[in-house]
Amino acid sequence: MIKDQIQLTFDVQKIRDDFPILRRSVYGKDLIYFDNGATSQKPQVVIDAINEYYTENNSNIHRGVHYLSQLATTQYEEARKIIQNYINALLSEEVIFTKGTSDAINLVAFSFGETLSAGDEIIISAMEHHSNIVPWQMMCERKGCILRVIPIDQEGDLIMSEFDSMLSSKTKLVAVTHISNSLGTINPVEEIIEKSHKFGAKVLLDGAQSIQHMHVDMQKLDCDFYAFSGHKVFGPTGVGVLYGKKEILDQMPPYQGGGDMIAKVTFEKTTYNELPHKFEAGTPNISGGICLGTAIQYLSKLDIQSIQSHEQELASYAEAKLNEFEGMRIIGTAKKKTSVVSFIVDGIHPFDLGTLLDKQGIAVRTGHHCTQPLMDFFEIPGTIRASFAFYNTKEEIDIFISAVERSLTMLR
Ligand SMILES: *Cc1c(COP(=O)(O)O)cnc(C)c1O
Repeated sequence: MIKDQIQLTFDVQKIRDDFPILRRSVYGKDLIYFDNGATSQKPQVVIDAINEYYTENNSNIHRGVHYLSQLATTQYEEARKIIQNYINALLSEEVIFTKGTSDAINLVAFSFGETLSAGDEIIISAMEHHSNIVPWQMMCERKGCILRVIPIDQEGDLIMSEFDSMLSSKTKLVAVTHISNSLGTINPVEEIIEKSHKFGAKVLLDGAQSIQHMHVDMQKLDCDFYAFSGHKVFGPTGVGVLYGKKEILDQMPPYQGGGDMIAKVTFEKTTYNELPHKFEAGTPNISGGICLGTAIQYLSKLDIQSIQSHEQELASYAEAKLNEFEGMRIIGTAKKKTSVVSFIVDGIHPFDLGTLLDKQGIAVRTGHHCTQPLMDFFEIPGTIRASFAFYNTKEEIDIFISAVERSLTMLR
């Protein structure tokens, strides 16, 4: 009963009207965009905000006395507050603008890494994106720290008993993905945070796949760092966020030097600016930051509960239909999943199927999805990944399923 009511309030056609790209065609076919895990499409309000910024307000921030500079500064700082409110961070200076998730994780790996010593341990998981593996390997090499990896099972769930036995007083940071981009697994991050904190370890969540699908509350989660990308949450590319607790960020050295991040510079000694500017050297992606604020505002007007149930319905529907094909193997069957369906078909290379789907107007991702160690674990070269956003529909899945059928006939 309650479920029906939610369905009624969620008007997917109305939402689709907000996304102009969904009206285009490719190869003469209506575009079906199922590559939301790689990047999301942008609503008209975000496109308009980018245009408006460069048409009306373009100026450098934090340094001008003139009208436009002050206006741009206000808008940029307003965007920071919009993001702060959306993720329920305690303070706006805990929201650091970065280039994206990768940049945010690199910031922590470098800067928090500087506070660590040889023999300290970092824990990641077997399902991490390369962005949450490589920066830690680089840091471990630099500082002599040890990287440990929580294994997963065949369903794509973390083996939590292994995590328990890895934790010790040597653990300084646990960096895990909130939701897997390849499998869709929603990790038990509350449990991970609670257990890590008992050992005095900090926790970084890679939120690149979570903020667009669920409500995230920094104060409730109590994670120490949370990273996400603007472009995956209906905002522009080249901008993202690192959330960090103030008391931890305050103790970390700057990541990069330059303008804006300083309080006073002399050739003898430079003192650093306070948060968030300490971590924002140089002229930032001003329009990106402002328009990420617009995207978050757009998202905040939608009912996240309805989004979730709509996306869940799409994913279950697609999985059920795909499972009817012979030789179908869904990769990632965790109990708690978001709207990611990764699959392979016996004897068919993911790339070949992906290419044929593309010719039918369907955008999916094929390959290792920047998670090569995960593909090695499943002993596969890659998968075909359909990742849904709230603007996708059941009708699109029907077309996709027919296209898979047609393609498999051609390839077999
Ligand atoms: C996309 C993604 C990243 C990297 O994001 P960028 O925007 O490329 O920096 C990191 N982790 C996960 C889980 C992702 O999906």
